Amino acid sequence: MRVLVTGAASGIGRATCLRLARDGKASGQAAKVAAVDLGPSPGLDSLCGELKALGAEALPLHADMGEAKEPARVVADAVRAFGGLDGLVSNAGINRPGPLLSYTVEDWDRMFAVNTRATWLLAQAAHPALKAAHGAIVATASMSGSNPHANLGPYGPSKAAVIMLAQVLAQEFGADGIRVNTISPGMVRTGMTEKAYADETIASQRNALVPLGRVATPEDMADVIAFLLSPDARYINGHDLVVDGGVAGNFLGRLPGISRITRS
Ligand code: NAD
Repeated sequence: MRVLVTGAASGIGRATCLRLARDGKASGQAAKVAAVDLGPSPGLDSLCGELKALGAEALPLHADMGEAKEPARVVADAVRAFGGLDGLVSNAGINRPGPLLSYTVEDWDRMFAVNTRATWLLAQAAHPALKAAHGAIVATASMSGSNPHANLGPYGPSKAAVIMLAQVLAQEFGADGIRVNTISPGMVRTGMTEKAYADETIASQRNALVPLGRVATPEDMADVIAFLLSPDARYINGHDLVVDGGVAGNFLGRLPGISRITRS
């Protein structure tokens, strides 16, 4: 598979690149991975080393997905290097805690530029190559896109928008043989969230909230992204796949006093 992954140096993006490289090795058809992240970093360097060790071709690309011209540039670089594109994973995202009252227009625009607009611009640029390959797009949304998440500024609205954006793209691109889906992760232990999990108490409180008993790993997400890109998902289009271990539904069962409610 020839694939471009944004936000590749860490967390879900990194695990996705490695999963696709392992799949390529297992199938005997080496993966070609354009690994996009903000700039040079030890994370991107080590990822590319690991990809090569798995027999994959690794193309590190430095770009800010919040800058309007950058998505098309990295897509062009990947298509030129690989001779086409089979998959696009729009995964780079940002998150900054704070109530909406404290947000500025610049902060708002930045979050939507990275978390939402980049997926549209990447899809627009990749359309010809994906059409030629009957490829697929997966964008990383969030459970915060379908559940109101206070004190994360416009993070939830930007993720709700990317879910709908992918559904509209699915309608428009379907006739060209391109599938477009999102995943909505629940809580995942990555670079973005590591500071919360560094506190053992918070980490165990978070684990206890999940019906499956644990916060997700990046690999839990990468496996689902790989599935959505694969032929096994050939009839899934315009779908938001919630991958949260059941945590977003874990509210009504925790209401205080349920055991005191008696049947009449
Ligand atoms: P992460 O911080 O581990 O990785 C994100 C990567 O994106 C980093 O390498 C970072 O450098 C890169 N990045 C950030 N801004 C960028 C930009 N403007 N241009 C290019 N690259 C940029 O975080 P993660 O948890 O793996 O995040 C991946 C996606 O998953 C994000 O879209 C995030 O919103 C989403 N998500 C994460 C969680 C979670 O609990 N970790 C939950 C739901 C959704």
